[in-house]
Amino acid sequence: MTMQRVCLLGATGSIGVSTLDVIARHPDRYELFALSAHSRIDELAAQCLQFRPRYAVLPDAAAAQTLRERLAGSGVEVLSGAAALAEVAAHAEVDTVMAAIVGAAGLAPCLAAARAGKRLLLANKEALVVGGALFMAAVKEGGATLLPIDSEHSAIFQCLPEDRSTWARRIDHIVLTASGGPFRSRDPASLSNVTPDEACAHPNWVMGRKISVDSATMMNKALEVIEARWLFDLQPEQVRVVLHPQSIIHSMVVCRDHSVLAQLGTPDMRVPIAYGLAWPERIESGAEQLDFMRLGTLSFEPADERRYPGLPLAWAALRGPEGGTAVLNAANEVAVAAFLAGTIRFDQIHSVNAHTFERTPLGSGAAGSLAGLLSLDAEARSVARQHLKALS
Ligand code: NDP
Ligand code: MG
Repeated sequence: MTMQRVCLLGATGSIGVSTLDVIARHPDRYELFALSAHSRIDELAAQCLQFRPRYAVLPDAAAAQTLRERLAGSGVEVLSGAAALAEVAAHAEVDTVMAAIVGAAGLAPCLAAARAGKRLLLANKEALVVGGALFMAAVKEGGATLLPIDSEHSAIFQCLPEDRSTWARRIDHIVLTASGGPFRSRDPASLSNVTPDEACAHPNWVMGRKISVDSATMMNKALEVIEARWLFDLQPEQVRVVLHPQSIIHSMVVCRDHSVLAQLGTPDMRVPIAYGLAWPERIESGAEQLDFMRLGTLSFEPADERRYPGLPLAWAALRGPEGGTAVLNAANEVAVAAFLAGTIRFDQIHSVNAHTFERTPLGSGAAGSLAGLLSLDAEARSVARQHLKALS
């Protein structure tokens, strides 16, 4: 068995920590080449001392200097800046890149890894939502192997054969399951005064704060609809969503003959992470096995658009001109940050998203380059911030 050298972007986050947990179980298969983080320097320092990667990367130069002093004599070299992230992601000695940064900040290193033909494990859905066609073209041109880590997309991927050229003939549509988040049974009219901690208390999954809020609004599912369109090359109407509060069925493929294939498991991100790391093999993940005798009922419901008004924006963005999905993502990043900071109410997240989506001019050709997408992202953030001022 050859050793895979792994570059882990977003090591200090929820996915990053779960990835390290799986890697630590298989020291004969994986070694860490680089770890990156943003603000949690103490956690990154501890990870570096445990896993001894060649490089540690932080976007900020002053934070990197602090880390350098902390790691003196350890043999870990500390790099800083956005360019360094892209450099380690594309480094000739790296086999596998785990993209677990949150938000559009992950797009540039993802594109670098794709263009360098890496095995690219994609948790960072926002990068694909922003990058869209450009991202998929980079994967194709670079000859990268793109493996989904989002549990729903991993489920779909696990239900499909290895030969991608057969997918279009095989798939009628896919069904992404959604837990409905912590407010599934709350009266929508009572959602105006929920706190960030209530919104982050997900019933089934333990995740970072941004994706937890996205799960409560179901903007997470909206982003996943867009992500699925690109990963599996589907028309927008071929991606459907159903609420499944138990989070046991992680998603389903409805085939042309109407046979339905599903992937099941306990809600533990180490399963899709282990699958991405080992594909096409399977390795131990550390997750508990499903206990069918204690499972009880698996239930399904439609997603109520009064409770989750942001969900339909996914199809609107996919059917509209290119760039709309990048605008939607930028608006949502600004809105969620404002909600977590206590600046806006929970129900105003949708107001920011809908307003920004309608008002941001898409221009022409912006979606064709990283620079164009980043400037569209900046424009949408500015429209969203102006709306925040109007709300406060
Ligand atoms: P976390 O917030 O827990 O972690 C995010 C990671 O990205 C941290 O390492 C953080 O560093 C780093 N980071 C944040 N901002 C920046 C930036 N501007 N530049 C560079 N690095 C940055 O998020 P999650 O682990 O929950 O999610 C990561 C991605 O995976 C998201 O895109 C999410 O949608 C996706 N995902 C997550 C799932 C989950 O179960 N958590 C499930 C499916 C998908 P630091 O901590 O040092 O600040
Ligand atoms: Mg998911």
